[in-house]
Amino acid sequence: MSVRVIGGGLSGCEASLQLADAGLDVELWEMRPRVSTPAHKTGNLAELVCSNSFKGLALTSAHGLFKAELRHYGSRLLALAEEARVPAGESLAIDREVFSAAVERAIGSHPRIKLVREEAVELDPAQSTIIATGPLSSDRLTQALFALIGSERLYFFDSIAPVVELDSLDLDQCFAKNRWDKGQEPDFLNCPLDKETYFAFVEALRAADTVEPKPFEKGQLFEGCLPVEEMARRGVETLRFGPMRPIGLRDPRTDKNPYAVIQLRAENKQRSLYNLVGFQTRLKWGTQKTIFSLVPALKEAAFARFGAMHRNTFLNSPQVLEPSLRIKGTRIFCAGQLTGAEGYTEAIGTGMYAASQMLAELRGESSAVWPEATCLGALTRQLTDPNPDFQPMNFNFGLLPRQDTAHKKDRKAAQISACQTAWEGYSPWASRRMPI
Ligand SMILES: Cc1cc2nc3c(=O)[nH]c(=O)nc-3n(C[C@H](O)[C@H](O)[C@H](O)COP(=O)(O)OP(=O)(O)OC[C@H]3O[C@@H](n4cnc5c(N)ncnc54)[C@H](O)[C@@H]3O)c2cc1C
Repeated sequence: MSVRVIGGGLSGCEASLQLADAGLDVELWEMRPRVSTPAHKTGNLAELVCSNSFKGLALTSAHGLFKAELRHYGSRLLALAEEARVPAGESLAIDREVFSAAVERAIGSHPRIKLVREEAVELDPAQSTIIATGPLSSDRLTQALFALIGSERLYFFDSIAPVVELDSLDLDQCFAKNRWDKGQEPDFLNCPLDKETYFAFVEALRAADTVEPKPFEKGQLFEGCLPVEEMARRGVETLRFGPMRPIGLRDPRTDKNPYAVIQLRAENKQRSLYNLVGFQTRLKWGTQKTIFSLVPALKEAAFARFGAMHRNTFLNSPQVLEPSLRIKGTRIFCAGQLTGAEGYTEAIGTGMYAASQMLAELRGESSAVWPEATCLGALTRQLTDPNPDFQPMNFNFGLLPRQDTAHKKDRKAAQISACQTAWEGYSPWASRRMPI
């Protein structure tokens, strides 16, 4: 049985090795070095385009737990990354050359993998395929995706507002309400600012450091969607007449409209994460934390995701993909950043996940979606649950099912424990060696 994987990045290499280890013949297509992308610098497989860090290792951190899960389920690329480790305290940082060379060896020496150094330009909905072409997928493949799913379901830039964890908010400093009390239940949490705080907030935004766009991103970012720091620079009242307008939001505690307000809207079904509505930003991460802490309700906010605006090809996954990450009505699965799973570890994880789903489909297993208490189960639900404001996201604790504990501080420990219990009870590879 032969399958195709397009893209020799983190997700495509993980998927290829998992499928080949399970006994499938894999054709892995990688277009570099013949055709490059604006961010890659080499022709190597699994090139890290930016930082050399896979983030934290401590089991108590979201990325540490995620890595423990990948290790538990036998991730091939995580094992190679750990062999290429360089000293970086509690984080997994790697020598990128050593890592890429090890991935090249693993792929090149695998008897079931054929590496095709060509750009894939066509998609056959009837052929078992994993598309893992990343945030800078080639133009011609993008055209083929347009033809398959429609151009309105594929995006080229993300414009992300910060997302905060509900448990970290000061709920005494905000109120639940919809503008003009429309709707049956309040969908928004409103964080009021008095005049003095609003002016300090706007001043801080105007003076703040932003992330410089990369050369290939210049001039393309701000159409129709201004970053908040840019709005602040246009005039001290601009935000108060834009995303921070208080009109229709009378504070029930004072019976007055606040001077300005930041609205928070639930980011996930279980309402454990909230995004700051209209607050897309290019501010540096540390600066975001400092500036938003000026808002009383957000003083201690824990950020599940910081705001960002950058070039990024990704699908409207909730509309396009099934929970298995398969494009509806086809035999094509997607993995990596293309699905909206942001980050290196997420790319490896979704590569493994898509491989497990393809195997299950080829074996005729009816449902193989991972338990929601696992990191990949939770992340893939976030990618595919209905979401009108879908934007890419890293894995974080807010995605795992909420655990009811007597004390708020015990919730993360309960989530970690539920996750580990789920690993014990579920193996995506239980029937790995079964004939197809
Ligand atoms: C500029 C930039 C910086 C980033 N920095 C970080 C960071 O520091 N940390 C982090 O965690 N995440 C970062 N990300 C986000 C993301 O996690 C990484 O881009 C990650 O490498 C994505 O993995 P992937 O496998 O989905 O895609 P990639 O690793 O990009 O792999 C996709 C592969 O597909 C190939 N390809 C594309 N089109 C075709 C085609 N038609 N035919 C054949 N091959 C094709 C590409 O050449 C590439 O090798 C960054 C993203 C960008 C764009």
